[in-house]
Amino acid sequence: MATISFEFFPPKTESATQSFFETAALLKAYDPAFMTVTYGAGGATKDGTFETVTRLQAETGIPAAAHLTFINTDIAHLKDYTDMLWDAGIKRLIALRGDMPEDLQWPLDPDGNYFQFTSDFVEALKSWHDFDISVGAYPEVHPDAPTLAADLKALQLKCEAGADRAITQFFFENETFFRFRDEVEKLGIQTPLVPGLLPVHDLARLQSFAARCQASVPQSLIEAFDGVEPESDAAFALAEDLLAAQVEGLVSGGVEHIHFYTLNKANLLGKSCMAAKNAA
Ligand code: FAD
Repeated sequence: MATISFEFFPPKTESATQSFFETAALLKAYDPAFMTVTYGAGGATKDGTFETVTRLQAETGIPAAAHLTFINTDIAHLKDYTDMLWDAGIKRLIALRGDMPEDLQWPLDPDGNYFQFTSDFVEALKSWHDFDISVGAYPEVHPDAPTLAADLKALQLKCEAGADRAITQFFFENETFFRFRDEVEKLGIQTPLVPGLLPVHDLARLQSFAARCQASVPQSLIEAFDGVEPESDAAFALAEDLLAAQVEGLVSGGVEHIHFYTLNKANLLGKSCMAAKNAA
């Protein structure tokens, strides 16, 4: 059996908020270990994240984690915001750099008012409060990293700084995850590596998003959807089966926890959640 978690983004309208909490209630039935709420780069959805994550935890009774990015936000603000989360009962964070805004260059220059690397951020968060902290990991290498070795080193530093788990960028071939896990293990990193899985709601959209994230969409996936009407029952059934097969393969390869990028929708996840729960 594998445990599961669900990731959401903060809803922007009243009707989206209503359907968000209906979706969360449906997914609660699969007994997730935690649910997470993303954070807009540059603080754009900071308030949305806070309101959503606190209400999500209160309504479902499931531990909720707030994503938090440090880029473009000074340390004093991050400290105040995390104090507010902690005081509101949010004890879990997904700690991230965030995507680079156009006016900044990577790597960041040292600046006493800002964090430079996610490892520094994780270390500070742990010193402020005893948060459970997840960080990101990139089986196909982060787009800003010059090499896989450099990216693995960055992951190692985040783990040494106190991360409790690393959740991966989405991928569609389990071999990609297993190869990456081997590299992580070779470095002696003991922090659990959690695969992050993205259901295929809309292949065309997914392809353009994946290109920006440097995540590959295999030809086999494109061929599987060839001739299948988008958003039809057939597309739905195919996406549901592909995701469940991916989960089964990961669990039989020793994976103990799976994180789903829900896109605030429950409809493709049932079979996969059951596959994770019922695995021997
Ligand atoms: P980092 O670990 O900071 O790495 C970024 C780059 O810096 C890499 O190239 C890495 O190799 C390099 N690097 C890191 N440390 C060092 C170092 N010490 N020395 C040299 N190089 C270093 N974005 C949002 O805006 N909001 C969200 O809610 C959000 N949620 C996410 C959830 C998950 C599970 C994942 C995987 C990503 C999420 N993202 C989110 C995207 C994320 O913010 C971007 O991918 C961002 O560009 C990298 O953030 P990071 O903390 O994962 O990467």
